[in-house]
Amino acid sequence: MIHVEGLTKYYDEFCAVDHIDLDIKGGEIVGLLGPNGAGKTTTLRMLTGYFQPSAGDIRVKEHSIHQDSLAIKRLIGYLPESAPLYKGMLVYDYLEHVARIRGLDGAAMAQRLFELADMCGLRGIMHKTIDTLSKGLKQRVGLAHAMMSDPEILVLDEPTSGLDPNQIVEIREIIRKIGEQKTVILSTHILSEAEATCDRIVIINKGRIVADGSTQELTSGKDRQGRVQLGFMGASTEAVVDRLKGVPGVSAVTPQTEEAPGLTRVQVLCQPGVDARPEIYQAVKATDWVLVEMNQEAQTLETIFRELTRES
Ligand code: ATP
Repeated sequence: MIHVEGLTKYYDEFCAVDHIDLDIKGGEIVGLLGPNGAGKTTTLRMLTGYFQPSAGDIRVKEHSIHQDSLAIKRLIGYLPESAPLYKGMLVYDYLEHVARIRGLDGAAMAQRLFELADMCGLRGIMHKTIDTLSKGLKQRVGLAHAMMSDPEILVLDEPTSGLDPNQIVEIREIIRKIGEQKTVILSTHILSEAEATCDRIVIINKGRIVADGSTQELTSGKDRQGRVQLGFMGASTEAVVDRLKGVPGVSAVTPQTEEAPGLTRVQVLCQPGVDARPEIYQAVKATDWVLVEMNQEAQTLETIFRELTRES
């Protein structure tokens, strides 16, 4: 559905998006996850045709952003970070105005407004002034605006930014519901948001993609370096480090602060994709040390995100 190749954006000399390649299938809910300034908004603005890329191409179905950006815009509904709403208008009047701009009229318009009120939970507030709505309700009006022409793709920039926990859950539910029918791309720097809403997470750092997959794929990733905590009695730190650093699959051994007299604790960093625990056990079995602790550190989206974006 969407094919992004070598997508790059410079602001003067500064490279905000640096040769991004991305393929998104129809029906996916994809989360662009990254720290502040990673390049998420810039990427979304290029995808939606608001910014011209400095280099690279975006193809949506058979259209290229360079030849046919209008056709791409027609396929995409976009909710920017701060939804631009006419605050003095009633919700109904505002959505009617948007509908007319999109070429809807008469019964078709009434039908669409009815559907959107239902989809975005606006039934009880259609006759309220936008200015009087909570941030969560305003965001729902923005979503209805983005969905007006029933686009195949919905792009949302930080859709739950600044909302309270209840509003976040409500918006998430609406997005997931929309995602049953549409392709959704959203940006966020909130890990739980990406985990709860998205089928696939693309982590961006300093304008580059540093990870791409489902939460499950990322946390069990074959490229990750596992960490194993070990505790021994009856062994010196030097002897433990010396023995374990030669074990196949181990790339580093770091002494940890001892917690109790006679206890030696170390952290072993494994080579990417290797579970070195069986080899560690074999190496220890040949000694008279007492192995009192062996724990593989669980990888979570948070540990991976921190590992990949730490410098930022
Ligand atoms: P945030 O989560 O803070 O919104 P982001 O991941 O969306 O961040 P962008 O807004 O795309 O990141 O910004 C990427 C980088 O480009 C940042 O360093 C930002 O300061 C810079 N930048 C963004 N817009 C402009 C602009 N119009 N002119 C110059 N630099 C810009």
